[in-house]
Amino acid sequence: MPNRPIENIVIVGGGTAGWMTAAALSHMLSGQKYAIHLVESEEIGTVGVGEATVPHIRFFNQKLGFDEADFMAKTKATFKLGIEFCNWGRASDSYIHPFGAFGESIGGVAFHQHWARMQRASGGHPIEDYSLPVMAARAGRFAYPAEDPDSLLSTYSYAFQFDAGLYAKYLCAYAEERGVKRHEGKIIDVALEPESGFVQSVQMDNGTSLSADLFVDCSGFRGLLIEGALQSGYENWQHWLPCDRAVAVPCATAGPLTPYTRATAQDAGWIWRIPLQHRVGNGHVYCSNYISDDVAAATLVDQLESAPLAKLNQLRFVTGKRREQWSKNVVAIGLSAGFLEPLESTSIHLIQLAIGRLLEFFPDQSWDPALASEYNRLMDLEYERVRDFLILHYHATERDDTPFWNYVRTMPIPDSLTHKINMFRERGVVVNYRDGMFLDASWIAVYLGQRVIPQNNDPLGEAIPEADLLAKFDRLRSDCHIAAQGLATHADFIRQIGAHAH
Ligand SMILES: Cc1cc2nc3c(=O)[nH]c(=O)nc-3n(C[C@H](O)[C@H](O)[C@H](O)COP(=O)(O)OP(=O)(O)OC[C@H]3O[C@@H](n4cnc5c(N)ncnc54)[C@H](O)[C@@H]3O)c2cc1C
Repeated sequence: MPNRPIENIVIVGGGTAGWMTAAALSHMLSGQKYAIHLVESEEIGTVGVGEATVPHIRFFNQKLGFDEADFMAKTKATFKLGIEFCNWGRASDSYIHPFGAFGESIGGVAFHQHWARMQRASGGHPIEDYSLPVMAARAGRFAYPAEDPDSLLSTYSYAFQFDAGLYAKYLCAYAEERGVKRHEGKIIDVALEPESGFVQSVQMDNGTSLSADLFVDCSGFRGLLIEGALQSGYENWQHWLPCDRAVAVPCATAGPLTPYTRATAQDAGWIWRIPLQHRVGNGHVYCSNYISDDVAAATLVDQLESAPLAKLNQLRFVTGKRREQWSKNVVAIGLSAGFLEPLESTSIHLIQLAIGRLLEFFPDQSWDPALASEYNRLMDLEYERVRDFLILHYHATERDDTPFWNYVRTMPIPDSLTHKINMFRERGVVVNYRDGMFLDASWIAVYLGQRVIPQNNDPLGEAIPEADLLAKFDRLRSDCHIAAQGLATHADFIRQIGAHAH
């Protein structure tokens, strides 16, 4: 093991992962002895379709000191209040998974417990009528959440939808200003130290050789260092998440600017719709066992709201993760670390988490193996928890109209998820995951949206008379409706805060 101070860091790859890492390290390590280099290859290019995010990205941007309106204008970003899932539980269903809660607890008992009790007793309104972010999303409206915890306007959060290529450029300008040195060209060879097996240097096609103490592998699906050089191994999760291909294409916006992403289930996968300021991103994620590339592409093009603005972009992937995301002196971040399909827009968040963990366990010259092992343990947990949440969307379905849906509906699922679903179905209990990114409200949204309705409810809620509950429900529903209608339209709000692209 090399016993010298860590001074040189090389980041391999300049996609979203590479530039997020470069920006964060240049900010957090500024004023210290580190030199940071980043290598990217225009010829190889980036995946560049990561356009929808989760609210945590705001904290990443804030930490770097970005001005939100400036960032939105430069990346042509829109606000995102959640994801609409169409045709998932049944072929004509629609529900929104909002970045916010449904209702409020009554008598110390969670709202969804009361809602399920009233549904069983007398039916009633869908749970989304008790969520301001869902009402606002459906009305195409947006406002910043309020800080006053007593305000209904404080019951949600928000994320962004943006042009990933422009975000990488934005981060690149920031990182270069803080001393990150960018190298354009292709890495053609990787040299290992004979004794330790640590990566010593990378050799570029223009003759440059870059050596470093720490390498961050952001080279995308190929995992140039983590797999190519160190053979970390890959845990394949396709038996649970069988989609393995995507075809993507942008088109012009045909209607009002919607503040949410849409995921519409298809015969053998699903289609995303991500509205940006200047265009709509679309893509069909599908399983090649059940549908050909040509039919998948035609299905996507048929459902576009306007003519395609570019050539179709075909992508292949294997869902899963590296067995070790940190091996020797290489930490893999982004697609080189693993891939979970974009159904809940989690990839960029996993990049953010990985950067945070790398900074938390930043190595020194002792290269204490406990640091890498704790990093790997925590990242494994994060990936597994996102994985389980994604599997829920496929498995909790009543669809039996195609071989794909029959497979996912009946496939064996991880024990951890079976337990969670059973607890919710039995008694509305949301089994908590420590460290997972999705909180109770998200699980509740997907369970109920996909018809996993509790069969019994918390007996502590029974003491509240049904008439009292109904009165509270009516008031809450009306408050959500009035508040949503009082907000500016999404497009107007973006203009009002000066976040529109010039
Ligand atoms: C179909 C699809 C849809 C997605 N949608 C979303 C979404 O909505 N939200 C979300 O959060 N995420 C999404 N993602 C994931 C997201 O795109 C990625 O997590 C994100 O773009 C990070 O990619 P990356 O930087 O790891 O890899 P890449 O974008 O592939 O970048 C790899 C970099 O490495 C460089 N490189 C590779 N090999 C070499 C070499 N030999 N020499 C020099 N340089 C090299 C490349 O030039 C490039 O700069 C989606 C992914 C897919 C496949």
